[in-house]
Amino acid sequence: MNGDWLTTARQTLPRLLRLLDELEPTYRIQDARDVSPDFVAREGIEAVVWDVDGTLMSYHAPAIEPLFAPCLEALRSVGVRQAILSNCGEARFVELGQMFPDFPIVRAYSMGEERVYRVLHGGEDSLGSEKAKDLLARGARQVRKPDGPLLLATLEALGTTDPSAALMVGDQFLTDVASGNLAGTRSAKLPAWAKQTFPVTLRVSQGLERFLYRISRLRGPRRSS
Ligand SMILES: [Mg+2]
Repeated sequence: MNGDWLTTARQTLPRLLRLLDELEPTYRIQDARDVSPDFVAREGIEAVVWDVDGTLMSYHAPAIEPLFAPCLEALRSVGVRQAILSNCGEARFVELGQMFPDFPIVRAYSMGEERVYRVLHGGEDSLGSEKAKDLLARGARQVRKPDGPLLLATLEALGTTDPSAALMVGDQFLTDVASGNLAGTRSAKLPAWAKQTFPVTLRVSQGLERFLYRISRLRGPRRSS
């Protein structure tokens, strides 16, 4: 998991300056329960893409936080499409597929200019673990948030064509909020759930991104283009 964090950091640092313009969330919420049927109806949101750790559960928990499960069910009952987008490793990705069989869980691998997308949904894996392993062995990298096309591919897996009617929900500015802004969706930032369960390296990076967010505020409003 430290390797995951380091990879994320290595891919993110060169883009930090540009990302400073992409850290302002559309909404600040207390936790996942604020994304209620009333909220999505009022805001015209048709699709919700969830981050997992710190958003729907504590760090690497084996199941969704029981307090939040009814919230996802309530959204489903009013026809809101939902998907999962996490920067997790390979094993955790498969685990998420078992936890959320009804939601597409999306990831991507990049090799040079080429990208391969992978969707796990209802027990079906569009790529398969063996092919994914083979790609990684041949030098492909996992595409991680923040990434606009990755979020757009997630919307495509949901059959949603209008990013402005979609909401990315997460606990991190640099991964979740920035992905939403890069893809042109809306974004909801919540404080990390059960922060004490996160490894020290992640807590440090969370502190760093709060600092970067404050800097981005000092730089003035986000550019409009
Ligand atoms: Mg998270």
